[in-house]
Amino acid sequence: PQLANQIAAGEVVERPASIIKELVENSIDAGARRIDIDIEQGGCKLIRIRDDGSGIHKEELALALARHATSKISTLDDLEAIISLGFRGEALASISSVSRLTLTSKPAEQAEAWQVYAEGRDMSPVIKPASHPAGTTVEVLDIFYNTPARRRFLKTEKTEFSHIDEVVRRIALAYPNVAFNLQHNGKLVKQYRAADTEQMIEKRVASICGINFMQKAIKLSWQHDDLSIHGWVAPNALQEQLQYFYVNGRVVKDRLLNHALKQAFLETCKSSVYSTDETLSYVIYLDLDPHQVDVNVHPAKHEVRFHEARLVHDFVYQAMIMALNTQKN
Ligand code: ADP
Ligand code: MG
Repeated sequence: PQLANQIAAGEVVERPASIIKELVENSIDAGARRIDIDIEQGGCKLIRIRDDGSGIHKEELALALARHATSKISTLDDLEAIISLGFRGEALASISSVSRLTLTSKPAEQAEAWQVYAEGRDMSPVIKPASHPAGTTVEVLDIFYNTPARRRFLKTEKTEFSHIDEVVRRIALAYPNVAFNLQHNGKLVKQYRAADTEQMIEKRVASICGINFMQKAIKLSWQHDDLSIHGWVAPNALQEQLQYFYVNGRVVKDRLLNHALKQAFLETCKSSVYSTDETLSYVIYLDLDPHQVDVNVHPAKHEVRFHEARLVHDFVYQAMIMALNTQKN
C-alpha cells in the first residue's frame, strides 16, 4: 500500500500548498467555522491545520488514514451527486505516505480526544489519548523526507508561501462565513474574519481581490430553476488578472464561463469601450443541482463537466447581459 499511496500522492500532493488545500477542504467538509493554519518554512518544515469541525470518532481515526477510506460517499448514487469537497478518500493516505503525519481529533460528543501518528512506511498507526478541544488538528512534518527526488522540486520558502497564500485566498473567497488565520514562522500573516452580512462579505472580497477590483466590478446575481449565480465581474484589465470561478463551492477551471461572460460583454457593448481582446477579472459563484455536474474528472478536482453545458453557458450569458443592462441604466 505504501507504494500505491506514494503514487497517488504524486497526483494530489505536489507541494505544501496542495496539502493545505486538501486539509482545509476536509475542515470545510467537517463544518468548521474557524480554521487555523500554521506553517513553518513555507510549509516544507511544518503544516498544522486546526479546525472546530465535527471531528473524527476514535473508532474511525485510524481508518481516516487508510487509502480510499472516505466517510463522505457510500454508494454509486452518492458519486452522481457530490455535495462535499472530498470524496476520493485519498488525501490523508497520500499525505501521510510522504511525511510524518499526526491526526488528533475530538467530536463534540466524545469525552476525550485521540491521536494517531503515521510515518511513511509505517502504515499501521498507533492510537493514543490526547488533549484537544472539539474539532481536528492535522500536523504534517517534513514533506517528502522519504522521497528526495520530489523534495528537490520544492522551491524557495517565499515561492512555496505564495502558493499557500493563493490557496487560502481561494478558499477564503468561497467560504466567507468561515474564519481563517494563517500563521507563518510564528507570525500571523493573514486573517479573514467570519463574514455573515452582505457588507462584510464584500469587505472580505475586497481584502482579497483589492479595492480596485471591487470599484470596477459589475455585480451579478440571478437565479432560475436549479441554477443560481452571483459574484462580480470587472471588465477593464486590472494590474493582475483575477479569475475565480466556483461551482458548488469548489474552485474550478472552465472555459465555458469566460466565454459566456465575454459574449455578453461583446453583445451589450458593441459600440462601446470594451474591446474584443479585453480580459475579464471575476469572482463568480455558480450553484446548481449536484446531479448536473461531474466533479470526478481529475484527481485534484480542478475540473468539472456540466451535463448540460449549453444550458449553463446560456444561463451565465443571460445573467451577465442583465447585469450589464442594469449597470447602464
Ligand atoms: P476525503 O476527504 O476524500 O473523504 P481524506 O483522505 O481527505 O478523504 O479524509 C479521509 C476521511 O477522514 C474523511 O472522509 C473524513 O471522514 C475524515 N476527516 C479528514 N479530515 C477531517 C477533519 N478535519 N474533520 C473531520 N473529519 C475529517
Ligand atoms: Mg479530503
